[in-house]
Amino acid sequence: MLIELKGLVIRTATFTESDKILTLLTAEHGKIAVGAKGARSIKSRVRSATELYSYGSYVLYKKGNYYWLRESELIENFFALRTDLEKMALAAYVCEVVDDSSMENMPEGDLLKLTLNTLYIISKGTKPLSLIKGAFEMRLAAQLGFMPNLSSCAVCGSDCISTACLEIMNGRIVCARCCEKISNRPDDKATSRGDYDALADILCQTTHICFLSPGALAAMRYTISCSPERLFAFTLEADELKVFADTAERFLLNQLERNFKTLDFYKSIL
Ligand SMILES: [Zn+2]
Repeated sequence: MLIELKGLVIRTATFTESDKILTLLTAEHGKIAVGAKGARSIKSRVRSATELYSYGSYVLYKKGNYYWLRESELIENFFALRTDLEKMALAAYVCEVVDDSSMENMPEGDLLKLTLNTLYIISKGTKPLSLIKGAFEMRLAAQLGFMPNLSSCAVCGSDCISTACLEIMNGRIVCARCCEKISNRPDDKATSRGDYDALADILCQTTHICFLSPGALAAMRYTISCSPERLFAFTLEADELKVFADTAERFLLNQLERNFKTLDFYKSIL
């Protein structure tokens, strides 16, 4: 039986001298491992659509427990990713995170869309890579179910916050006023002990606290709530961008509880 679908090549591995194994991310079936005979040969008809970061249309057949590639047609190869080391390194990180986060035999339409949009904006070169990376990380975390509560203070409940610290592990923010209370605790007799205890509880449970400037907090709120098409349609001043990007990375990595070799490489070349 033949299966026809569109997919993005998020990983490739050498199988034999002429064959390789692709990992395709698809909307309908999630992540699929596909054997591609002859794909490493220069003369192969399927070569262009089986390169890493290629998005294409694929006809597969199943033999035993494995899918094999019969035909393919390239739709987009994000060529600019292959000509710039920083772009290529960021694309490799995006694909490794997506590979780690995606499921087999589960619809992954939203994840495929996020990945394609991210690779497209990286290749286009119109936005700072740190902005793209941070927006991707926050959005992915939210899509995976790690939606942080950035709307109100976890201690006093105030929803009128422009500066805050983010408690990374639990995805909660504490307003500047409550942060100040804890730091002034020995002298401040006017504040109720209940407030102190709740805040101390949050701050002492973890050392994973990030201080967010107004622009960084606004950007984090935007990236988890905007329409998918508008994910990268914002700007930040350089110092705000650094806070946003550092926080987004820490937040995602903490939720996924792992590090990525491709991220280490990306950072090593900046
Ligand atoms: Zn508060």
